[in-house]
Amino acid sequence: MAMQKKKTSMQEQKAEERINNFEEVPYGYTDEEALQEAKRCLQCKDEPCVDGCPVEVPIPDFIQAIIDGDVEKANQIIKSKNNLPAVCGRVCPQEEQCEAVCVMGNKFEPVAIGRLERYVADYNMQRGTDKSSKEEIEKNKIPELEGRKVAVIGAGPAGLTAAADLVRFGLEVTIFEALHDTGGVLSYGIPEFRMPKEIVDQEVEAIKELGVEIKLNVLVGKTITIDELFEEGYEAVFIGVGAGLPRFLGIPGENLNGVYSANEFLTRVNLMKAFKYPEYKTPVKVGNKVAVVGGGNVAMDAARTAKRLGSENVYIVYRRAAEQMPARSEEIEHAREEGIIFKLLNNPVEIHGDQGRVDKMECVEMELGEKDDSGRRRPIPIEGSNWMLDIDTAIIAIGTNPNPLLTKNTKDLATKSWGGIKVDDNQQTSREGVYAGGDVVTGAATVIKAMGAGKTAAKNIKEYLLNKSDK
Ligand code: FAD
Ligand code: SF4
Ligand code: SF4
Repeated sequence: MAMQKKKTSMQEQKAEERINNFEEVPYGYTDEEALQEAKRCLQCKDEPCVDGCPVEVPIPDFIQAIIDGDVEKANQIIKSKNNLPAVCGRVCPQEEQCEAVCVMGNKFEPVAIGRLERYVADYNMQRGTDKSSKEEIEKNKIPELEGRKVAVIGAGPAGLTAAADLVRFGLEVTIFEALHDTGGVLSYGIPEFRMPKEIVDQEVEAIKELGVEIKLNVLVGKTITIDELFEEGYEAVFIGVGAGLPRFLGIPGENLNGVYSANEFLTRVNLMKAFKYPEYKTPVKVGNKVAVVGGGNVAMDAARTAKRLGSENVYIVYRRAAEQMPARSEEIEHAREEGIIFKLLNNPVEIHGDQGRVDKMECVEMELGEKDDSGRRRPIPIEGSNWMLDIDTAIIAIGTNPNPLLTKNTKDLATKSWGGIKVDDNQQTSREGVYAGGDVVTGAATVIKAMGAGKTAAKNIKEYLLNKSDK
C-alpha cells in the first residue's frame, strides 16, 4: 500500500460556529483515524523522536500498542514518563519537539505524535482507565526514601511533574499552591477552547491518586517561608512558581482604561468562568475593536478569546513577520480562520485616549534587519511611517517575568538580572536542598520544558536525599 504522506487530519469545529462558543476546537481522533495515523510510524530502532521529547515518552512503543489494539497499554507506557498526556497532546509545540525529529518528516509530514498521545489519554480518561500502573509505582519505590518529606511550591506543569516523580520514589510529597485551583497556566491562562479545564482537573486528580497532597491558598514567601518549610521537616524543596508577572511596552498611554495585560484578561475569563456562564456579564469589558500586541500563543489566545466575547474587529499587532511568530502554527491558522486581522511588521509607540479611555493605538511600520541574539532578524522602525489604529481595547501579550515575592523573601537564593532563579544542570539553586524549574528559571517557555525541568529536579532530589542519608 502507498505511504500516506500527510498526517491523518483531525476533525474540528467550523470557524463560523466556534467563534460563538468556548468549546474545544479540535475533536480528537476516532479509533479508525488513530489506527490509520499510528500505522504511518516506521518504528525506528534508534527512536530519534524520544530524544526530542523532554520527558522521554517511549513514542514508538505506545504507537505500537495502538496498532496492537491495546490502548490501555499505550496509556501505561505514556504514563510511565508523562503524567499530563492529555495536556501535552493538546498544547505541546510538537513541531519544535518530538515531531521535529521524526524520521517520516524528512520526506513527508511527521507522524502526528501529539494527536496520538491525546487520543490515548482521552480514550482512557473516558473509560476510567487513565491511572498509572500500580506495579510500575511499586517497582520505583526506594526503601531509604519512604516517608521522608519534600515540599513542592506551585501546582503548574513543573511542580506537578516533579511531585508525581518524587512520590513514586516513595517520598511524602506536599504541593503548596497560591491559588484556589491547580494546574497553573493550564487552568488560568490557556483558554477553555484549547485546554478544557475538565481535562486538566482529571490529570491532576490522577496525580493526587499517586499519593501527592496538594494544599491550596498557600502563598509561599508570605503565608510560609522556605526556611519554615525546612523547620517543619521537609528535607528538600522544589520551586515551580512560574512567571506570572506581565511585562508592558513602556509606552505612553498604557495606564488608560481599556488596556489590559493578557495575563489579567485571560485569568479573569478563565477563573471567573466567563466561558461557562455567558448569561452573566463577562468579568472583563471588551469593546468591538481590540488590538492584541504580541505574536506568541498568549497573544493568539487573547485575540481568539476577545472574538468569542463578541468583539467584531480583533487585531494582532506584531513587530516581526509571520515566519517569526513564536505561536504554534495550528494556533495561528485557527486565529486566521476565525477572522483575526494580522497587522504584522508593526509596533505600537503610543496608546491614545479620550477622557481616560483608550481610543487609538499609534503604530510604526517595521522592516527586518540583521539577526539578533535570538537568531531572528531584528525589527527596525521605518522613520515617518506612523499610523493610527482605531481601537477601544488593548491587550498586551509581550511576555512575563517571575513574581519576585518568593525570591525576595528567601535568603541566599541567587537570581538573574530579570528575576529568574539561577540553577545548575541538576536544577539545583544556590541553596542546598532547594531546586527550581519551569518558567521561574527560563522565563515564559513551554509546558513540556517546564515538565522536563520538574523531572530532572525530581531525579536529582532523589540523589541528594540518598547521599544525605549515606552521611
Ligand atoms: P505555571 O504554569 O505558571 O505554574 C506556576 C504555579 O505556581 C501557579 O499555579 C501559581 O499560582 C503558583 N505559584 C506562584 N507563586 C507561588 C507562591 N509564591 N507560592 C505558591 N504557589 C505559587 N505552553 C505550551 O507549551 N503550549 C501552549 O500552547 C502554551 N500556551 C500558553 C498560553 C497562555 C495564555 C500562557 C500564559 C502560557 C502558555 N504556554 C504554553 C506556556 C506554559 O503554559 C508555561 O510555560 C507553563 O505553564 C510553565 O509551567 P510552570 O509550572 O513553570 O508555571
Ligand atoms: Fe511530543 Fe510533547 Fe508528547 Fe513529548 S509530551 S511526545 S514532546 S507531544
Ligand atoms: Fe515513528 Fe517518527 Fe519515531 Fe520513527 S521517528 S519511531 S517514524 S514517530
